[in-house]
Amino acid sequence: VEFLLGTHEVSWLRRTTVPLFVSHRRLAKRKYLPRALGPWALDSGGYTELNMHGQWVTTEPEYVDAVRRYTADIGVLQWAAPMDWMCEPWVVSKTGFSVVEHQHRTVDNYCRLRQMAPDLPFIPVLQGYERADYDRCIGFYEEAGVDLWRVPLVGLGTMCRRQGEKDIERIVTDLALLNLPLHGFGIKIRGLKQYGWALVSADSMAWSLRARRHEAPMLPGCTHKTCANCFDYAHHWRLHDVLPTLVNQQPRMLRAG
Ligand SMILES: [Zn+2]
Repeated sequence: VEFLLGTHEVSWLRRTTVPLFVSHRRLAKRKYLPRALGPWALDSGGYTELNMHGQWVTTEPEYVDAVRRYTADIGVLQWAAPMDWMCEPWVVSKTGFSVVEHQHRTVDNYCRLRQMAPDLPFIPVLQGYERADYDRCIGFYEEAGVDLWRVPLVGLGTMCRRQGEKDIERIVTDLALLNLPLHGFGIKIRGLKQYGWALVSADSMAWSLRARRHEAPMLPGCTHKTCANCFDYAHHWRLHDVLPTLVNQQPRMLRAG
């Protein structure tokens, strides 16, 4: 499993060779962008945007322009999340649409982004909430002419804010058994132990929340109030809490594209 360290701090792109996961919401405000030292992937910030506005306020051309700018200025962009529609019940109630409508919009957006910018590394994302939703979403991609088995990565959406650890495990492992090359958005570290084998990659920013809530001691020598935006703390967490859980977890890539 490749692990992407989630961060709010744009400047880390030029400070570390560790793979990072950075949100469009953070980058969009920046006039000057750092040149990345290592690989990184782009979060579209959809969860925040849908929660704040009940819809996507960013337009597709704006997003495409932004991703093109990040690719040129920052470099080493591995992939970019689409403007997908999360399906947590509270998000669905905010937008006023159904889960099915969220799925249609997610698939349509991916198709349009790909059409507008075939040169940019947008990935398709499966959205849903119940187990059966994800199969339906695969069907929607099929109907749209997208072969999920021939793309480098398929994002697995609406995974990170659930309580039911068993539900997540079932969805992740069922989809992995279809040989889809999955990226788990915001997968819990505890979860990685259980079903990390089923993922090609995953990202998490759990270190920041943990530091903010003082659920773990601060790093010795740190003088800030919390380590919630601490470069050393995040790297320490990745090294000691995340990477050991990923040892011997081979991604199940049984069929190459
Ligand atoms: Zn610190």
